[in-house]
Amino acid sequence: MKKNILIISLLVSVLAIFSNCKEQRAYKALIITGQNNHNWQASSPVLKQLLDQTKLFTTDITETPAPGKDMSTFNPEFAKYDVVVLDYTGDAWPEKTKTAFVDYVKNGGGVVVYHAADNAFTDWKEYNEMIGLGGWGGRTEKDGPYVYFKDGKQVSDSTPGNGGSHGARHEFKVQLRNTEHPITKGLPSKWLHAEDELYSQLRGPAKNMEILATAFADTSKGGTGRDEPALFTITYGKGRIFHTTLGHCGNGDKNFPAMECAGFITTFQRGTEWAASSVVTQSVPVDFPNSASVVQWPEYKPLSLDEIVSEIEKYDVSKSRKYIYDLQNRLRSADGNPEVLLSYEKLMVKILESNIATIDAKKFVLRELSWMGSDYCISKLKKLETSDDLKDEVKFALTRLQPSK
Ligand code: ZN
Repeated sequence: MKKNILIISLLVSVLAIFSNCKEQRAYKALIITGQNNHNWQASSPVLKQLLDQTKLFTTDITETPAPGKDMSTFNPEFAKYDVVVLDYTGDAWPEKTKTAFVDYVKNGGGVVVYHAADNAFTDWKEYNEMIGLGGWGGRTEKDGPYVYFKDGKQVSDSTPGNGGSHGARHEFKVQLRNTEHPITKGLPSKWLHAEDELYSQLRGPAKNMEILATAFADTSKGGTGRDEPALFTITYGKGRIFHTTLGHCGNGDKNFPAMECAGFITTFQRGTEWAASSVVTQSVPVDFPNSASVVQWPEYKPLSLDEIVSEIEKYDVSKSRKYIYDLQNRLRSADGNPEVLLSYEKLMVKILESNIATIDAKKFVLRELSWMGSDYCISKLKKLETSDDLKDEVKFALTRLQPSK
């Protein structure tokens, strides 16, 4: 019996050490670029920013030699990384690099296939098994079936023809086909994606592949009239691959709406975490798009806390509670951390003192302060004790914050 307790307590200590290590250690990500029929000079730094701003990753970018140059020196140390993000389509890699990459994935390395990376390496068998589906580059029926959704069911279609097409760029809806996968769990079942190319007629081995989301390629936009795979996963050996066809970044373009889309950004960040670790710990941003409206984030960043506070100031009970929920979630997750709670408390007191904040916003703030407020807010609350609109909520908060009085 004693022995069992000893083993259990040892196990608990080991697990605690392990989970502490995990919290402290960021995943290492490597973005491979340097050749692409897209604006890789613009897209790769953005992809790095997107990963680094989650605070889950430290991200390196490596560039291959330019097209036509000697590729023999290109040999990244894949094994140093938890996940490799491919923003590359171009010259073949040296055989030893290809072998090292295949070994890396077989042994459990994560991969993210971003947009035109699925145009690459038509003749590399293992690569095509990793990406599941690809397009262009001379792909035909010899490379595998077309895969799409029809009448709500996944279809594998061996009709002869070229792989890869897209119509004019436009906004389109992305529809989830799996709402329980770690990458998609908690996202709306349909959301509007900013202007992008809708990759269609992809074909490939499609082995060990799961489609997470599709997009309907409307014939009025030059599309196929099919629900085409937009987000999918593949397993290869022990490796996990996340493939997003979204995120066009055009040569000569000044703006990159597809990359600014909160839906693209969020699924890219979540998909990369999953590929690195098999889990997703990121919450869904408050302003994730729904099926009615596109959400673009200037400079590819989610709303800051200040922006959320300014939205809360406008709150009334008839409005969406999403910003309220966001602040509540932040407060709940900071419970037990007085420094962080105090920083929120100061912002909340500003809402109370604001001339433009609504009464509903102030009532919400008072309810939250009643459990997490410190001495900092008490004197400020006392000034509101005679407010006609707020006196009940103020009294409630003060009673909870000063139980002895
Ligand atoms: Zn493109």
